[in-house]
Amino acid sequence: MVRNRCTSPVWQATAPVLAVHGGAGRIVPEELGAQRAAAARRGLSQSLAAGMTVLRDGGSALDAVVAAVLVLEDDEQFNAGRGAVLTAGGGVEHDAAVADGATRRAGAVTCVSGIRNPVLAARAVLERTPHVLLSGTGAQELARREGLAVVPVDWFVTARRQQQLAGIRPSDRAEPEFTGGTVGAVALDIEGHLAAATSTGGTTGQLAGRVGDTPLVGAGTWADDRSCAVSATGDGEALILSVFAHEVDALVRLAGLHLGAACQRALHETELRAGTGGCIAVGPDGTVAMPFTSAGMFRGAIDATGDPRIGMFTEDNAC
Ligand code: ASP
Repeated sequence: MVRNRCTSPVWQATAPVLAVHGGAGRIVPEELGAQRAAAARRGLSQSLAAGMTVLRDGGSALDAVVAAVLVLEDDEQFNAGRGAVLTAGGGVEHDAAVADGATRRAGAVTCVSGIRNPVLAARAVLERTPHVLLSGTGAQELARREGLAVVPVDWFVTARRQQQLAGIRPSDRAEPEFTGGTVGAVALDIEGHLAAATSTGGTTGQLAGRVGDTPLVGAGTWADDRSCAVSATGDGEALILSVFAHEVDALVRLAGLHLGAACQRALHETELRAGTGGCIAVGPDGTVAMPFTSAGMFRGAIDATGDPRIGMFTEDNAC
């Protein structure tokens, strides 16, 4: 039986603070296996280290979330960058977003293939254009103009994702494999600014052109220094319909809820739209929440004390 939902309390962390996720879904010990669990733990801890190095050096929350997500995009076990899931036709379509709580601005790209690190393209939209969201060829053109690394689409495709698309299970496993692995990061820097970043390949076998919550500002990604930074993962359609990340913000900023309670309430709204998922969120006071309604979520957090907390299953007491 798969037990859903993490009800562990929030963590009161000390600035600078960074939290990362590597996707929510059916992540349970007996199906994941020790090897994949160890690899996920390694990836999360490398991502935390990269982002925290930036924050410790006095870098901005925005620099930190981009650094943390870059590591996860380059790690092919996660559903972002190389190793992302494939569309129904076997194609690659990446989505990514960044949100800057200091300026309350955001940048995002959707349906791009060929940009090695989509999170950098999202940042380019934020910093180098008057726009918020660029799609497909327009986003790829911007990436080229900005000198970002562009690679052939085949470079992103791994044998594991091709097998998942074909419905082939690893030989040692009767249960379907966890196919998610969207990545994200949220941070609070020493200046008190918040930022969020999320990156994904979407869902296995999605129709070409499908857009999930990740690049939709207010659904999968959000940051406002007055309230919180949020990066979501899970059933994208339900997260879009519940305007998830903005719902967390509104519950904190307008309704005065504590960040942990706001995340739980927003996840409940997502459940009302028949979706499960999770999020990582950080507030301006250093509160970290990492709740989920799915069976598990790859997640980790670190603060000024430097002790990383990493979890993946319901019973892990990461926060
Ligand atoms: N939310 C992502 C999407 O719908 C998928 C995920 O987080 O697993 O594109």
